[in-house]
Amino acid sequence: MNFENTATAAALMDEQDPLKKFRDRFFIPQQQGEDCIYLTGNSLGLQPKTTSGYVMQELDDWATLGVEGHSRAKNPWMPYHELFPRQLSKIVGCLENEVVVMNQLTVNLHLLMVSFYRPTDERYKIICEAKAFPSDQYALESQVRYHGLDPDKAIIEVMPREGEHTIRKEDILRTIAVEGESVALVMMGGVNYYTGQLFDMQAITEAAHSVGAYAGFDLAHAAGNVELQLHDWQVDFACWCSYKYLNSGPGGVAGVYIHEKHAADTQLPRFAGWWGYTKETRFKMEKGFEAIPTAEGWQLSNAPVLSMAAHKASLDIFDEAGMEAIHAKRKRMTAYLHFVLNEINRQSREKWIEIITPALEAERGCQVSMLMLHKGREIFDALTAKGVIADWREPNVIRVAPVPLYNRYADIWKLGEIIKGICQ
Ligand SMILES: *Cc1c(COP(=O)(O)O)cnc(C)c1O
Repeated sequence: MNFENTATAAALMDEQDPLKKFRDRFFIPQQQGEDCIYLTGNSLGLQPKTTSGYVMQELDDWATLGVEGHSRAKNPWMPYHELFPRQLSKIVGCLENEVVVMNQLTVNLHLLMVSFYRPTDERYKIICEAKAFPSDQYALESQVRYHGLDPDKAIIEVMPREGEHTIRKEDILRTIAVEGESVALVMMGGVNYYTGQLFDMQAITEAAHSVGAYAGFDLAHAAGNVELQLHDWQVDFACWCSYKYLNSGPGGVAGVYIHEKHAADTQLPRFAGWWGYTKETRFKMEKGFEAIPTAEGWQLSNAPVLSMAAHKASLDIFDEAGMEAIHAKRKRMTAYLHFVLNEINRQSREKWIEIITPALEAERGCQVSMLMLHKGREIFDALTAKGVIADWREPNVIRVAPVPLYNRYADIWKLGEIIKGICQ
């Protein structure tokens, strides 16, 4: 893609953007009466203007109907979670019976590991990426300890090579092959939260299966961001949160995918609750758990409707925009961001920014992580003062993520101008 580094060129790209009308569907945070340049949709997506209406609907139904809302609300609460599989299956690439909305991300990771990490004396290792998101590290470590094993022996982290920031695919595949039949589970992020590296989930799943292990992914930074084909890739399970790229509000209800071949297996061990019980006979309230033969069979509790209403408001926007258009804009925007940052380096005597996110489109999503080689904190503070909301990670990394539904090319151009102002 060819770009021109001027405000006019950025404005023209915005003018021609097929998704431009969607920005107005969101509340954009303000600073001194002006729209901020919001580049942290990878951390907390913005609020759709429709969200409060969706939530109010449920509050009103609760006010007027009380318990009757379970069956008589406009969107009856009892099957409320059934509103999601059709839309989410398009976002993560799976069958509708492979996906369920429930709980929150780390809770779901634990629940899935109950089913998919059942170590034996011979097969007990978990392969994961080094520097995974801390919550995932704690989940893996505590699962291993729960089974009476030593995390130092059971958890194998694949690291970047000396002097590199991202992990080479060949190193992941080689580690899986070398550890072979001792591997119980390969569990990685789909997109690493720090570097923004997108992993080849299909190849990793294939490698895991070739040694007889399960493959699971934490898609917190992938769902709603990159193209996913979980079913076709034969991924065993995955989980994600809804408040990052999926714009469903702080701490919002999360999502789970379980491949059909496992989801239909009602005998697969799990921690059960009444909402995972066969619907026809759930209210007979009898002894002896009988799982729903879909991903819904992992549900524990009845639907958290208020949080789900916010999720629904957002997914309706994804539906309207269409994933194809979202991915097309994401690729163009991120390429433009790389271009703008590379221009800053090119135009100054010394290099200011090392982009640690892979340059190849197939290896990244929206996010770009910049390792600041000089004056990192100063640049970050200047960005903040000028209304740019970005994310700072010690020691010297600024993460930004232009999001197709509400960011503009002009946002990226302005980001570049502010950084340039300090470098020169
Ligand atoms: C954001 C994120 C989390 C957060 O977990 P919660 O249970 O939603 O608090 C966990 N893992 C990864 C990889 C994340 O990016």
